[in-house]
Amino acid sequence: MDQSRVVTQLENIRTAQRCGARTRAGGACQCPAIRSRKRCRLHGGRSPGAPMGSDNGNYRDGTFTAEAVKERQWLRSVVRTYAKLEK
Ligand SMILES: [Zn+2]
Repeated sequence: MDQSRVVTQLENIRTAQRCGARTRAGGACQCPAIRSRKRCRLHGGRSPGAPMGSDNGNYRDGTFTAEAVKERQWLRSVVRTYAKLEK
């Protein structure tokens, strides 16, 4: 086995972002997180997350879907821009 590759892999793991899941002891898990994610393999690192929209049990009326929130932000930015122009 190529030893330098193993060393590089170990260094990558060492510098990887750490899992922030809370443990029963109260601290953070601190296992290496899944690549480009914030949780380790034991704490849902590969999970795509909760279902979106009405598939999510906490869904009420769509007021807070990512789409609706983005639309309000856009509208506010438009209003802000015209409010500045009025002055
Ligand atoms: Zn973890």
